[in-house]
Order: sequence, then structure tokens, then C-alpha cells
Amino acid sequence: VGAWTRADAERADAADPLAGCRARFELDPSLIYLDGNSLGPLPTGVAARLQQLVSEEWGRGLVRSWNQAGWVDLAERVGAKLARLVGAAESEVVVADSTSVNLYKALGAALAAAGPGDVLTDDGNFPTDLYIAEAAARQFGGRRVRRVPRAELLGAIRPGTALVTTTHVDYRSGHLLDLAAVTEAAHRVGALAVWDLCHSVGAVPIDLSAAGADLAVGCTYKYLNGGPGSPAFVYVAGRHRDLRSPVSGWFGHEDTFAFGPEYRPAAGAARFQAGTPPILAVAALEVAMDVFADIDMSQVRAKSAALGELLISLAEERCREHGIGLASPRDAASRGSHVSLTHPDAYEIVQALAAAGVIVDSRPPDLIRFGLGPLYTRFVDVWDAIQVLGEVLESGRHVASAHSTRHVVP
Ligand SMILES: *Cc1c(COP(=O)(O)O)cnc(C)c1O
Repeated sequence: VGAWTRADAERADAADPLAGCRARFELDPSLIYLDGNSLGPLPTGVAARLQQLVSEEWGRGLVRSWNQAGWVDLAERVGAKLARLVGAAESEVVVADSTSVNLYKALGAALAAAGPGDVLTDDGNFPTDLYIAEAAARQFGGRRVRRVPRAELLGAIRPGTALVTTTHVDYRSGHLLDLAAVTEAAHRVGALAVWDLCHSVGAVPIDLSAAGADLAVGCTYKYLNGGPGSPAFVYVAGRHRDLRSPVSGWFGHEDTFAFGPEYRPAAGAARFQAGTPPILAVAALEVAMDVFADIDMSQVRAKSAALGELLISLAEERCREHGIGLASPRDAASRGSHVSLTHPDAYEIVQALAAAGVIVDSRPPDLIRFGLGPLYTRFVDVWDAIQVLGEVLESGRHVASAHSTRHVVP
């Protein structure tokens, strides 16, 4: 796509089969929002649903709403809606807790059942995933965590590996691992595979059933647009009936409201719930999941690849002499839905872009991440964002002191 003009980008938008999906979000027309891989935009309908839930279901219905408004199995119903996006049966997915907590439960369940051996992960895995893997490995069998470079993960799976865990799409580079190949290699040595789908769910077609996956977790506030801190999900393959969540709370009980003295796990992924679900947050997520009800994920993938290719070619054409490099795979087949460029002043550049209405984010030490949420990102957004990036670099205004004030969230 070298040398696209803005008119070319406009033509691509006019031909985009997903163009109409942009209207399903409340987007500020004065912003170019390329950070939906960190926090997805607000779906239309969430605000009204929350207003109704608060005023009517909570305000008037009070405790009766657990039954009358269906709060009691809302998390399972939303999990069932999410299941289609990860290639799972409805009973294999439940919405609960955060990704960090769900990863702990998934790793604990798998390691309590696994044979002797190490936990294998990659050294660029997301920090919380590394922290939790270390804790779970220690607590469930006194195991060692072996960290290898992501490119060597597949080859590092060997006899003596009890469990493999990593992230499907790398949060820094956007590198997409072959989920089926890694899972198969794990199974060949008798190991289980636990996947983190945070940066792929909602952007990359996923088929956990076809891959024979064991367990997976993921968050819902990135490409699923569930809102800040929206609850995460857990997938447990139906065949793993014997795996038990180490947090055996009452919402994972087969009959929560029998108030029995002994824990008996519910069937399906529902047993990986622990306590009372955050109903306001789950209700918002349900509206966000309905956005995907009629979406063809192969169209999402094709658009994501095209947006990424446009961004890379424009950045190289417009910004190469300003010290911009590419941290993401050039080949769209090995890339998720974000593209990371490199620059020593990444943090300051991201602040200068924000001041010009282009929202992206930085990750240490030198990454500028462009999240390309395919449901609402237009080709002209990519074109305009790179135009602004070029202007920032040319003017050098990112080095002005106002743009190096450090915020807590980069
Ligand atoms: C965003 C993200 C998380 C976030 O975990 P929380 O518990 O929801 O804060 C975890 N892992 C990966 C790979 C992520 O991208």
C-alpha cells in the first residue's frame, strides 16, 4: 500500500464492510482513538442500560432483582455470549474477577492436577502473568518457572515441562503465537497449556476447541470494549471436568443458594466463579458483547491486517528519517491488531500526539503502540495519525518540557 493518499484511505473506508460498526460506539469526533487495545471505547447503549439497572433493577427491584432481573446467572449468560468469539461451547466460558485472578485460578487448577515438572513461559510475557506464574508454580507443587525468549518457546517445550503458559498476542510487539501449534507441542510431552487472550479476543479469530486448548483467560476491557475494570473471563475445556479452581467460593458451587456446608463444584466453567459478580460491570459487558452478535470475525481480521499494513507503510514512508523503527512483525499473519513503532523519545511523542488529539500509548523503553480496533477504526484515522506523527517529529515539539511530565499511566 505504499504512497497512499488520504483519498485512497477514504476509498478504503467507503469499501469497508465493517464501516457501519463505528456507529455502535460513542466516539468523540475531535479525537483519533488508537488505544482500544488498552481501553476500548464506550458502546452505544451501555449508559442507558446502566441507568435502567441502577434506577429500576437496583433502586426499585432491590434484592428481588437477583431472580426477577436474572442477576443470579448474568455472568454465565455473558460468558456464553463470549464463547462464540473464542471457539468454545457456551458452558466452557464464564465471566468473573480480573485476568490476574483468573490466571491464578487457571494455573492453580492445572498445576494441582499436573504431573511433576516445570512451568514454561516466555520472558516477554505480560508482567502480571509472570508474577502470577511464579506464585502459582511455587504454591502448586514447588515448581520452577523457566522463561525463554518468545521465539524459542515452541522449541523449549520438552519432557519435564508440566505446563506452558503465555499470551496469544504479545502486548509489546503485537506478535501472534500459533496457539494450536504450542498447545499441540505441550500435549505431546504431557503438559497442559494455559493461554492469556487479553490482546487477541475480539480482534483475532480464536478457535480454542479446534486447537484442543485446556484453559484460557482474558480481559474484556480491551477489544471487547467492556469498560474500565470490566470482569475478565475463564475458559475451561469441557473435558477437564476434574480441574478445580483453588478459590472454591460459593458462586462456583453447584447449588449456591442451598447454603450447604461442603463445597461441590458446579458443572462447566461456572465453577471458576468465586464470589458475587459485579452486576453493574457485567451488565455493561453484556451490552458490549451484543455489539459482536452479528460480526464476522474473518472480516475483522482482514480489516485489522489492512489497517496494520497501511500504518507500517505510511510510518516508514513519512517518518523513517526521524529515527522511527518497527517493533511489530511485518507479516500480518504473525501480528495481532496493534502495531508498535520504536523511538527513543516514545513517551514524549505519545504526549505530543495526545495534545494534537491522537490517542495512542507508550510502553517502556521505546515503544509507541497503535491499537487498531477494527470495529471503529477508519483507514483515514490511520492516515491522519501518521500525518500528525510526522509533523510532531519534524517540528521536534515532543521534546518541549510540557510533554515530558510523567503520568502514572503511560
Ligand atoms: C491487560 C492485560 C492483563 C490485565 O490483567 P488485569 O488483571 O485485568 O489487570 C493481563 N495480561 C495481559 C496479557 C494483558 O494484556
